[in-house]
Amino acid sequence: MCFQLFLYMFFIGLHLLANEYQRNNISNRIVFLLLINKGSYLCQSSLLIWYWISLSLMYGDKLHLFATADIEMCSKSKRAVAMNKNKGSPKGLHQHKAVQRARPDSINFSKLVADLVETGKTFYSRGWVLGTSGNFSAVISREPLRVAITSTGLDKGSLAPAQFLEIDGAANVVRGNGRPSAEALLHLAIVRCMNAGAVLHTHSVWSTVLSSTHASRGGVELEGYEMLKGLEGVRTHQHCEWLPILENSQDMIELAQRVSTTLREVSGIHGFLIHQHGFYTWGANLQEAKRNIEILEFLMEVLIRSAPSHTLCDPGAGRQG
Ligand SMILES: [Zn+2]
Repeated sequence: MCFQLFLYMFFIGLHLLANEYQRNNISNRIVFLLLINKGSYLCQSSLLIWYWISLSLMYGDKLHLFATADIEMCSKSKRAVAMNKNKGSPKGLHQHKAVQRARPDSINFSKLVADLVETGKTFYSRGWVLGTSGNFSAVISREPLRVAITSTGLDKGSLAPAQFLEIDGAANVVRGNGRPSAEALLHLAIVRCMNAGAVLHTHSVWSTVLSSTHASRGGVELEGYEMLKGLEGVRTHQHCEWLPILENSQDMIELAQRVSTTLREVSGIHGFLIHQHGFYTWGANLQEAKRNIEILEFLMEVLIRSAPSHTLCDPGAGRQG
């Protein structure tokens, strides 16, 4: 009898507390009436749990109960919407936490885009992406595959975050306005074949020249340079880096297939050239991709500037009979 009286007092206290914050919550009043009338211990126990859940929704920050369930319930229930309007209350703070945890991809997208904007400025100032050429991408998530990529036809020296798109594994736009770069399929092929976290494409003078002069050789060989050691996985200047040259095409589906085939067949490469077009490289993340492109652009320039000791003319072009 004493225990039953204690329960009644406890529920009345809870009810008054809840009513203070939810004056129009009719369900609380109904529960209160049920409790005043006769109820079994089982019923009272169930209602006690119900009350605790209700309170944890209101005071989750303090009670630290039902935290995980709380986040999901907050995002779905109408109550959470009402809570969110009251930003100054503990309820508002609680909802703010739930939003932060529920959308990590948004934070990741913003960070990656900010880094790609800076990459565009740097590459433009170095003359690698002039006249709206080139494009950049970075992986947001792998399951499902989501990639942040530049929209087509933009000045890479003055990119704005709003000019980036999020695409899925089939190059469909899932966030942002505009069309993805025409070469988005090549980016996706590289991401998949090389497990890359970022892909960078430039139209530099040096890569364009070499893609033409070395076309008949099928690629460019870089060997004996100390700078090679900056490439991921390279430990000695004696390393021989091979940059395959692929024939250019406006059929991106066909070109993406050839890119995939090349990446599967030629192991250990860090980039490739497209004939009279430009250069692609990648990395596990954007920092690694930037390092690779700086080293390889440097070495391509060295190869051309040291022309007397290297034959820059296509050896196959002038060959007679
Ligand atoms: Zn291009």
